[in-house]
Amino acid sequence: MAKNFRGKNIEKKRGTCPSCGRTGVKLLHEVKKDDKTIMVCKICKSVDPAKIKV
Ligand SMILES: [Zn+2]
Repeated sequence: MAKNFRGKNIEKKRGTCPSCGRTGVKLLHEVKKDDKTIMVCKICKSVDPAKIKV
């Protein structure tokens, strides 16, 4: 479990970050926005969720 984010597992998590709009980033961090959970990249995990447009 400790190595979840390493190796091939991360390939499945690549996508477009809804916050910064970058493509091919690893979406590893859950952020709660309203009543749903969205996945953002490591850069955006510290960004205010209210600024994330989904
Ligand atoms: Zn991002």
